[in-house]
Amino acid sequence: MTTIRYLFADHLSRSIASLADLDPAHDVVLLTEVAGEAEAVPHHPKKVAFLFSAMRHFAAGLAEEGIRVDYVKLDDPANTQSFTGELRRAMRRHGAERVVVAEPGEWRVLQELRAWRERHDVAVEIREDERFFCTTNDFARWWQKRRQPRMESFYRLMREQTGLLMEGEGEPAGGRWNFDKENRKPPPRDVEFTGPLRIEPDRVTSEVIALVERCYGKRFGDLEPFWFAVTAADAAQALEHFIETALPRFGDWQDAMLEGESFLCHAAISQYLNAGLLLPRDVCARAEQAWREGRVPINSAEGFIRQVLGWREYVRGIYWQEMPGYARLNGLGARRRLPDFYWTGRTEMACLREVVDQTRREALSHHIQRLMVTGNFALLAGVDPQEVCEWYLAVYADAVEWVELPNTLGMALHADGGLLGSKPYAASGAYIRRMSDFCASCRFDVRRKNGPGACPFNYLYWNFLVENRKALGGNPRLRNAYATLDRLPKERLKAIRADSRAFLEGLEPWSRP
Ligand code: SF4
Repeated sequence: MTTIRYLFADHLSRSIASLADLDPAHDVVLLTEVAGEAEAVPHHPKKVAFLFSAMRHFAAGLAEEGIRVDYVKLDDPANTQSFTGELRRAMRRHGAERVVVAEPGEWRVLQELRAWRERHDVAVEIREDERFFCTTNDFARWWQKRRQPRMESFYRLMREQTGLLMEGEGEPAGGRWNFDKENRKPPPRDVEFTGPLRIEPDRVTSEVIALVERCYGKRFGDLEPFWFAVTAADAAQALEHFIETALPRFGDWQDAMLEGESFLCHAAISQYLNAGLLLPRDVCARAEQAWREGRVPINSAEGFIRQVLGWREYVRGIYWQEMPGYARLNGLGARRRLPDFYWTGRTEMACLREVVDQTRREALSHHIQRLMVTGNFALLAGVDPQEVCEWYLAVYADAVEWVELPNTLGMALHADGGLLGSKPYAASGAYIRRMSDFCASCRFDVRRKNGPGACPFNYLYWNFLVENRKALGGNPRLRNAYATLDRLPKERLKAIRADSRAFLEGLEPWSRP
């Protein structure tokens, strides 16, 4: 009996559950490049090239092992351009009676897989994705037991269960669970950053780049220079490069931003992790080892491991726990269209211009750029969460819906009513001034709170608190902010509201091409 082992673009791990017990004599591994997925949102060309090239390299590696691989390219004239259509064709080609697939990274695709059984009258086995530390069932049990579940308690549980950064008797390494307070230093002026490891495209990647240029070259995003790793071996080199050159300083400056410095001490490996080229267990183990060998301080090792072991697993758990309703939440009733500058970079606000421009060039930006610049602006301006989520899903090479949606809708936009985070990450220009050098080259004055030339983040911040008092006024973590708001002189508040109205009305909405 022939079994098709269907791999998606985020399943590129040799240890993926759908390849376990593979029988090379009878089984066929199927990988497909389908326009239905590449065009579901206008994905950044660099992201599409990365995933297609990584898929082609992974398929070639399996074939070298003697495994039968069926690979359907995007420009194959017979390609039906959908997962379901390609499965149907492959079943006929191979006379297959059974399909094995690992859990996908998107609720919509999971529904599609579940429908295969009825549509094709075929045995479909959907296997748990065991690459994560926490299964969706274990997360659901933990979530349901807690009256107010929060990331910090989940993270501690994960530390205890895995033993990562733990000393004897359940003690956290370094005597504390969390060194976040030591991870917020402002940007340094006199440090040279090496940046992530850059891999020269090989022949396969160059062919994919030409294909993507032909099909999607007019989209938002620069395809070249293309420097991503597309194999597990090169991704492992990129991880080692990060541990040697950047992790020692990552902790101190993980929230800092500098003009012209896209990565500072960030790893830029999330696209490898989310595609499966790196495994979270290996990544955390290597960071811990570097700390145990004295090459990395504890605030760096802990800050990095918290992102992978804590935050990444937590948002995945929430995604699968709360979907499909989660994608439709709009707790603050935000209805504004996404401003055009998210796709063009044409804005006089230097911080947004810098982050959008970097996103266009690299298909990556780090978490504070995403949360406190593009996310914070969308929150303050009341942009519709679905439009913001579509942008984040499209423009970042590491964006798979399970990780993108909770981070954008929940953390950046607080549209889930506080399910994921206890308060909105709303901030005035003062935060961006403290954590970056963007304000120095901006035409707006970050010290001015309102009036001509004032930084828009400043008046929009107070305007946001006024507009959302009903939803947020009772939040204990915003008590001080509302107390300050209530002390503002009436005339000042009136001016803030008028500046906000004029600014928001002047925003050019994005119109879908
Ligand atoms: Fe951004 Fe305001 Fe600073 Fe300009 S002044 S870079 S808009 S925070």
